[in-house]
Amino acid sequence: MKSISSKNWSIDRSAELYGIREWSSGYFDVNDKGELVCSLTFAGDEQVNSSPVKQTKKTSAKEAQSIVTADDAISTKVNVSLMDIISGMKERGMDMPVLLRFENLIEDRLTKLNEAFANAIKESSYQNYYRGVFPIKVNQQAQVIEEISEFGSRYHHGLEAGSKAELIIALASLTDNDACIVCNGYKDDEFISLGLHAIQLGINCFFVVETLSEIPLIIAASTKMNVKPLIGVRLKLASKVDGYWSSDSGDRSIFGLTTSQLMEAVDQLRAADMIDCLQLLHCHLGSQIPNIQNIRSGVLEACRYYSELSSEGVPLGYLDLGGGLAVDYEGAYTNSTHSMNYNLDEYCADIVEAIIETLDPLGIKHPVILTESGRATVAYSSVLLFNILDVTHFEPAPIPKVIAEDASELVKNLHALLEIITIRNVQECFNDASHYRDEIRENFRRGRETLRSKALGENIYLAILQKIVLLLPQVKRMSTELENLPESLADIYYGNFSVFQSLPDSWAIDQIFPIMPIHRLDEVPTRDAILADLTCDCDGKIDSFTVDGVHRKTLPVHEVKEGEDYFFGAFLVGAYQETLGDLHNLFGDTNVVSVRINSDGSYDYVKEMEGDSISDVLSYVEYYPKALTERFRQRAEKAVKSGRINVAERQTMLRNFSESLGGYTYFEK
Ligand SMILES: *Cc1c(COP(=O)(O)O)cnc(C)c1O
Repeated sequence: MKSISSKNWSIDRSAELYGIREWSSGYFDVNDKGELVCSLTFAGDEQVNSSPVKQTKKTSAKEAQSIVTADDAISTKVNVSLMDIISGMKERGMDMPVLLRFENLIEDRLTKLNEAFANAIKESSYQNYYRGVFPIKVNQQAQVIEEISEFGSRYHHGLEAGSKAELIIALASLTDNDACIVCNGYKDDEFISLGLHAIQLGINCFFVVETLSEIPLIIAASTKMNVKPLIGVRLKLASKVDGYWSSDSGDRSIFGLTTSQLMEAVDQLRAADMIDCLQLLHCHLGSQIPNIQNIRSGVLEACRYYSELSSEGVPLGYLDLGGGLAVDYEGAYTNSTHSMNYNLDEYCADIVEAIIETLDPLGIKHPVILTESGRATVAYSSVLLFNILDVTHFEPAPIPKVIAEDASELVKNLHALLEIITIRNVQECFNDASHYRDEIRENFRRGRETLRSKALGENIYLAILQKIVLLLPQVKRMSTELENLPESLADIYYGNFSVFQSLPDSWAIDQIFPIMPIHRLDEVPTRDAILADLTCDCDGKIDSFTVDGVHRKTLPVHEVKEGEDYFFGAFLVGAYQETLGDLHNLFGDTNVVSVRINSDGSYDYVKEMEGDSISDVLSYVEYYPKALTERFRQRAEKAVKSGRINVAERQTMLRNFSESLGGYTYFEK
């Protein structure tokens, strides 16, 4: 890490430190005031005021500026400060934490994905088109699905459903008959009937067969309803991928048909005279595939299946390559788990080229290309905003110049060490200090050291460590103990959020999300901290960050100023986090606010959704707020009867009790 000094500190240095321009894909930046902004470019005539609902007055267009792009079309770059959005939310009574959604970013991602495929198709003279579907499981929130269905219709972007419930969402949300619905997951009769109804309505609804047992069900239901289904088969590819989700692929993947099951499926459909229904091949290599090589070899393998089946006379027309398009959470542009070593254009070009390469020599017609990108479509659109509630510093209380005569020898020894630490003896001093500290603790256990003496000893020990940490940058080689010392003395910043509710993958799979202060970026961050959440769980913390492009356990942060709010954002949380979140310690859903940015730099608060109240989360676990209130009332009444409290006090208590029930589950001011 480059050393942090206040000299020459700049917003650009902050951007570099937190890697903003690396992970944000251009959607976020810092403005001159040192505030994080959402940054959008509007083409000349594009969607000037396309916001569907206008609930609020507009803000001034102060940050819109015209820029001229290479092809001379005037486009407008707009920066909206997250701090401005927060103050608007405050005026509207929305407390932290808030999940902030930028509708524009969902729209922009859909546009980029579809345009990138269109480009790749044009460049290679590919003889068919692309149809994307969004997998509902990645973010099932009604607002998000609505936005995807609406913005996506321009590209006939469809939906992927993995269950009956998701199919119901898809059937009710999509209005465009040129879009596809792809049904994955295990299908029972009800699921199949719903899908056949979709076909009756003229919707391109594919059943992707995951197990052989689904085939007789599909044959029976479609015969009974007299509807010709659209059928796909899910392949179990041998190609393995890197990354966390590698078990979705390879021979041991729990999904999809083996080669011999695939043959069996083809034979069964042929026997039922339904081979013409088998039109789609599906494979899904896994999510967040960091390495483009894996994608390429997976696609090549899928194409081999496609060509073999086509040659056998199966009338395939669609190749669905599933999800896997990654998001560079670390901004590292490498093949490490939470990064990616390719960009969207390369992804599309590689897929298109791999298909051409395999099918052209055999003279097989190019299929319609489907992908099921979830993460890459919605991750950017949501930011979790939270405030810092409290800070723990590991700093010693003032150390007395002279130690009292009656202090123990060990404490005196520690005190003497404090005076003699130099660059040359840091390791030795560290060893000695740790030895004395351990002895003091041992003596305390045996009753030979008093509590006050132990407190003094530990305080001096902390002072020694702090002194050593200051010297470490000048020490050339050191033990891992010393290397880890700065971390173990880092501050703890307590954030008003729950990791389990809002960033579950940070806990479950150690995923790295970009997390950083969203203001004061023109000031040098002078502290190093880990973040703790509101749950009283030792896993309720975040201690993995990318700082100056390298992994660190602590994050540079600013000193919290008395009486001033300090706000953080956790970015790229739009995929998976909202739905996987749980009620650990009964912290519920956060408030959600959707904004839409206009090309003149103004923005609208298009949707607001209040988070769970305490009574909401209690009822999720089968408590009945009315019954709880009644029990508490009885208790209070008894206390009145016994003379412990008076009636007025009882009233105050009951009022507080019921206000708490209606309140937010997070820390309120
Ligand atoms: C989860 C899933 C996806 C989404 O994957 P992303 O990597 O988020 O794009 C797509 N298809 C299937 C079958 C899935 O299970």
